[in-house]
Amino acid sequence: MSTIAQQHTSTFSVQDLELKLKQVRLAHPEQSLPSPPSSDSGLSSPAESQNEESYFLRSLKECLDIYEEPSRPRSESLSLLSDEEVIMLANNGNIAAYALEKLFGMDQLERAVRIRRAIISRASSTGTLESSSIPFENYDYSRVLGACCENVVGYIPIPLGVAGPLTVDGKQYPIPMATAEGTLVASTSRGCKALNAGGGVTTVLVGDGMTRGPAIDFPSAIQAGKAKAWIDSDDGHEILREAFESTSRFAKLKSLKTAIAGRTLYVRFATTTGDAMGMNMISKGTEKALEAMQKRFPEMVVLALSGNYCTDKKPAAINWIEGRGKSVVAEAVVPGHVVKTVLKTTVKDLCNLNVKKNLMGSAMAGSIGGFNAHAANILTAIFLATGQDPAQNVESSMCMTLMEPTGSNGEDLLVSVTMPCIEVGTVGGGTVLAPQQGVLDMLGIRGAHPQQPDQNAQTLARIIASAVLAGELSLLSALAAGHLIKAHMAHNRSQANTPAVSVPATPGAGLAYRV
Ligand code: ADP
Repeated sequence: MSTIAQQHTSTFSVQDLELKLKQVRLAHPEQSLPSPPSSDSGLSSPAESQNEESYFLRSLKECLDIYEEPSRPRSESLSLLSDEEVIMLANNGNIAAYALEKLFGMDQLERAVRIRRAIISRASSTGTLESSSIPFENYDYSRVLGACCENVVGYIPIPLGVAGPLTVDGKQYPIPMATAEGTLVASTSRGCKALNAGGGVTTVLVGDGMTRGPAIDFPSAIQAGKAKAWIDSDDGHEILREAFESTSRFAKLKSLKTAIAGRTLYVRFATTTGDAMGMNMISKGTEKALEAMQKRFPEMVVLALSGNYCTDKKPAAINWIEGRGKSVVAEAVVPGHVVKTVLKTTVKDLCNLNVKKNLMGSAMAGSIGGFNAHAANILTAIFLATGQDPAQNVESSMCMTLMEPTGSNGEDLLVSVTMPCIEVGTVGGGTVLAPQQGVLDMLGIRGAHPQQPDQNAQTLARIIASAVLAGELSLLSALAAGHLIKAHMAHNRSQANTPAVSVPATPGAGLAYRV
């Protein structure tokens, strides 16, 4: 009867195996290594499974010799080592855990992830990662490598729901929402139903320009002022435009906004970016433009390509006022009877609540661009589903929700959202990942638009604004209806549809209060 050790290598005995396991246990007392299989376990070849391989840990020296064999590429050498042996080399400092994909090559990307999980897991105090329920198998890591994430140990699935469909500019779209917030999809769907009943949402794109705002130091405020005047002149603008636009056929410089603080000059470049969200594109263009400027102003020092005058992923009034990415208004009329039957409230109560909460409440709180109920909820769920940069929800969620009565007797509701900074793309970034591409396919806007580069990204922005409109309408209605229900309970249980709430009463003359 042949032993497993004999099958593995002619120079390897069971005694050797037990000795090695002892060594490993001594070296890694925290690890729970499997017991060696009994000699009659019937396993044919240790190379057949990773578990079996792990029983046959060669010495560090043997592994190093295999790994460093100069006649072979590293990826080939690594395929001769078991996972446990690679982990041993990594723990010994011979292999950097972050570089596993590069060393393994494109056909062993999942193995690289599996090994990294083990290395990190065993170095952590909890030791749970390796056997955790964080999935890592059957994922196309080739799309991640060098583009989306480093030190990958798996991926995080988020439930994907679909609200709607919602009619946007005459076309029906399912609204994809990746979220773990219960009721969000259902509530947005209710808003879609109410909006569809009135004929759907109409959108208008009022601006499209991604921005980058470098910080440039000059020796003195006078020199910074001269540079500002040059950029603001036709000559300066033209030189910068030419350099900027040489970097991409999609990048057309739309504006340059300059501002000075002391001897530091800020320039806000704004550009079209085709179907890309555009941060990479605009960074390249800005860099080139600054090179052209440096020729004219050799004394200038570019402190940072992003001097926070952009402003990316941080709250800033400049975005709210000037816009960033796609600036969209989405508008709809909801018939009064739909407000009653679907949204269970009244036009009057909705309008009152919108003013008091979204406009006045946010003004009282000193908000910038937060004149809405929960735009970020809907926007972020769609961002996650479609591969957008979720950190850009900071400015992309800026939104003013407006409601007013319309129709001959004010019986219907005119509702809109104004969103000046929807930063989205359908090429680049997380949109290269297969699941996210599947979602973009569902919307018919994956990748570059074949005829007009920018149409896919703009359509996505219009869909997002329209879905936000649905979410706003539904939540505001729920709040208004809740208020109504409470009022009805207090005032008259039998007349559940009588809205008798929040009626202003003006005190008569002489009734002014002292406070
Ligand atoms: P971002 O600029 O949003 O960070 P990437 O740089 O990752 O995005 O992707 C943009 C790349 O895609 C550019 O290299 C650009 O040349 C290419 N591209 C191809 N088609 C388009 C398109 N329709 N719109 C924008 N970029 C496109």
